[in-house]
Order: sequence, then structure tokens, then C-alpha cells
Amino acid sequence: MTDKRIMTVNPLTEKVIETYAIMSDQEVDATVRKSHDAFLDWRLRSLEDRARVIAAIGDKLREKKEDFAQLMTQEVGKLIGDSRDEIDLCAAICDYTAKAGPVELADDQREVDGATAFVTHSPIGVVYGIQPWNFPAYQAVRYSIASLMAGNGVLLKHAESCTGSGIFLRDVYESAGLPQGLFGVLRITHDQSDEVIQHELVRGVTMTGSDKAGRHIAAKAGEVVKKTVLELGSNDAYLVLDDADLELAVKTCVAGRIYNNGETCVNAKRFIVTEKNYDAFVKAYAEQFEAIAIGDPTEDGTKLGPLVTREQRDKLHKQVQESVEKGAKLVVGGQVPDRKGWFYPATVLADVAPGQAAYDDELFGPAASIIRAKDDDDAMRIANDSRYGLGGGIFSKDVEKAKKLAATFFDTGMVFINSFDVATPNLPFGGVKNSGYGREHGPEGLKEFVNIKSIKIAA
Ligand code: NAD
Repeated sequence: MTDKRIMTVNPLTEKVIETYAIMSDQEVDATVRKSHDAFLDWRLRSLEDRARVIAAIGDKLREKKEDFAQLMTQEVGKLIGDSRDEIDLCAAICDYTAKAGPVELADDQREVDGATAFVTHSPIGVVYGIQPWNFPAYQAVRYSIASLMAGNGVLLKHAESCTGSGIFLRDVYESAGLPQGLFGVLRITHDQSDEVIQHELVRGVTMTGSDKAGRHIAAKAGEVVKKTVLELGSNDAYLVLDDADLELAVKTCVAGRIYNNGETCVNAKRFIVTEKNYDAFVKAYAEQFEAIAIGDPTEDGTKLGPLVTREQRDKLHKQVQESVEKGAKLVVGGQVPDRKGWFYPATVLADVAPGQAAYDDELFGPAASIIRAKDDDDAMRIANDSRYGLGGGIFSKDVEKAKKLAATFFDTGMVFINSFDVATPNLPFGGVKNSGYGREHGPEGLKEFVNIKSIKIAA
């Protein structure tokens, strides 16, 4: 960002894609008001009517899939296959929401003594979303579709790197029949964002991003007593227990770390392997990671594209270097390649321990942290020894044992047993501790920004 402009830059070519003017305060206010005006009509439309528009958005996303995927890859360096999958996921979210919305948000009759009663899920007004660049479509779709289904207006402040994707999405929504202005895109500074949070017509704030930014945004919303949902970062742990299928564990943990260039909140990041399997895991993991070549993300078959910005790449490299200085063992990668584009090689750190960034913090890129545990109990302890708690995984042939660990001991919002996954439209998504609070997806996500209102009628 410069003084009054946002520039999007292709991470592969380092060339400017587009320059956008930052909005004036008057334009921001007008966008908020337009969304609110449109909301006043939208909230009166039936759940079924709104669901029809949401379903049409899903169809339109499928129609525009290739153009949208190409734009996302240009803006953030995602592999083109991952971009196409992302649009499919967004369309699936629309399908789910159109089907489940009218059921989940319908009035709920309650039995009470001496009266009749029901609970409504009324829209609250304009919901403001602040989103990151790593899934330019999905991040914006997952909160906005739920809120639109609920009858709210929605604002989007997207990450600067994917400004074009935010605008593209708005055009998709409107061409599918969403009332003009109901979904407003803001191109604003962080100071202006603070003003939007305070705006009298903004009723809720949802943010996905780093815990540092989350703290600031939640504090601003707290000052004016507005509800927030925070979807923040993590250093998700994947446990490889004594009785794990090692081949499956290695293969899945490699894929779970490298997915989306390693720039995903729920990427598998820390691999906690018991003594029994440790050496074999490190060897096999390193062999597979070493074979992952960097390349042009627009070409099918490329396994690892560039990171989104030079700053993100340099930050990751610094974290890797500092971890090595503090005792981590660099097994694979770890050198910034001498070529155009913000590439970082697939990197493996072993013997990772507390006090190192690779253990304590989030590495947002293709660098894996492997940690040695004495036994299964020790592995579970290490997994929870984190300020984060978004997702995690367990590899064990004893599924009942893994289910118990997941349900009772894993202190995160999501756990994947013998697999890696990202998001499923009907399963709640979100974290605990510094990974935030609130949920997206599923019935839980549909009800984050509604007024759950009790109405009691005297007999
Ligand atoms: P970031 O926090 O720097 O930025 C995310 C968004 O917040 C951007 O739009 C940015 O402009 C905005 N922002 C930052 N500071 C702000 C402020 N003071 N006021 C208003 N807006 C502000 O995060 P990032 O580095 O771009 O994204 C990566 C982070 O996001 C990682 O930590 C990742 O784990 C996390 N993430 C979490 C989830 C999840 O669902 N939990 C999903 C994707 C990414």
C-alpha cells in the first residue's frame, strides 16, 4: 500500500497487476449506508427466497470458476489446481447454506408453562468482515454467505494482496441476483477500519488473520460492545503414535504441510512423533519433502508456488534460521533460491524444541517442524503445549483410542484422525485459545450473527 493506493503484485513475476485507490471516508460511509439500506429490504424476504439467491451464487461461482481461479493464482501465487478446488468449495458452501439455512434459521417453538413461546433468528444488520489473502474466495465466502442467508448486510475488507478477488466476488454475487450494495467491498486503511468497526450501522465484526491483528480488532469492537468472531492462526500438531500406519502418516503429513503453499491456518505444522517411529518418520518425510520442486503456480503439475509477498517469505526464512540457531536441525531446504518470485523451498526442521519459533509460533509457509515425544502420552502433552488451538491430527491404528484422545484431551476446535482436511460446509470450523473464538460453517456458523430472540405469548 502507498499513501492513497493499493497495489496488487504477482508473486511469481513481481510485476504490478493493478492499482486501486483507497476510498475516502465519505465513500466508506456511503458503502456502509448502502449495505444497510439494502439490508432493510433483504431482511423482509423469506428464508426460502434468500436461499434461492444463495444457490444462484453457487451456480454463478461454478460458471466463473476458471476466471476466478486464474485471478487468485495471479494475486497470491496459489497453485492453479488449489484455486480451482477453492471455488468448488465455495460453491459447495452455497449449496449447503441454501439447503440448511431455511431449516436451521426457522422459528423454533418452545414449550413453557402457562404460555406459548417461540424463538426467532432475526438478522442483526450489517456485519463487517476483515479477511486474509490465503484463500481469496473462500475466506470471503464462508462468513458472507452465512450472514446473507441470515438476512444481514455484509461488508468486506479484504487483504490488499487480493483486492481484485474481493471485487470479482462482489460482481459474482450481484450478477447472481444479490441486491446491489448489500455486499459492500471496502478498500481502506487499518485506521479507516477502526472507524468502520465504530460505525453506528455496523452490528458485528468477523475477522480471520493473525492473532496480533485479532487482538486489536476485538479490542476496538469491545469498546463499542459489538460481537466478534475471530478465526486466527495456529501451529497445528499432528501426532504420530506408536501404533500409527507410518506410510500413511508420512504421506498425509507431507500433503498436509504443503497444501496451499503451506499458507493455511489449518495446515499440519508440528509433527509430534514418538521415539519408536521418530527416525523412520524423519527420514521418509525428508525424502518426500526434498522431492517437492518449486515452480510456476499456473502450470498444472507444479507442487509448490511462490509465497504471497517478499515480507512473508523473509519472515518465514528468519523463523527457520532462528530455530536452527536455537538447536533445530535443518534436514532439507532452508535456503532462499536465487530466482525471480517470492519462493521458499520445502524445508524440514527436526529436533524442534520449546524456545524455537518452529515450536512456539506459526510458520506460515512450506516449513515442517518435527518434534520427538517419549511416548503417546508425551505426544498429546506436547500437542497441547501451544498458545494456539485451531486443528490437529492423530495417526493411530486404534481408532477408538484416537477418538477418545480427540474428544477428551486435544485442546483444539477440530481434529482429523488418520487424515488431513481443511473445511467441510456442514462441520463447524474454528479454534480455542489464541486461535480465536466463534465458529463458521454448519448450523453453528449460520447463527453467529443473528438475534436469537425469545417471544412469549400469554395464554
Ligand atoms: P493479518 O492479520 O496480517 O491480516 C489479515 C487481515 O487483517 C488483512 O485484511 C489485514 O489487512 C487485516 N488487518 C491486519 N491488521 C489490522 C488492523 N489493525 N485493523 C484492521 N485490519 C487489519 O494476517 P496475514 O498474515 O495476512 O494472514 C495470515 C494469518 O491468518 C495466519 O496467522 C493464518 O493462520 C491466519 N488465518 C486463520 C484462518 C482461520 O480460519 N483460523 C484462516 C486463514 C488464515
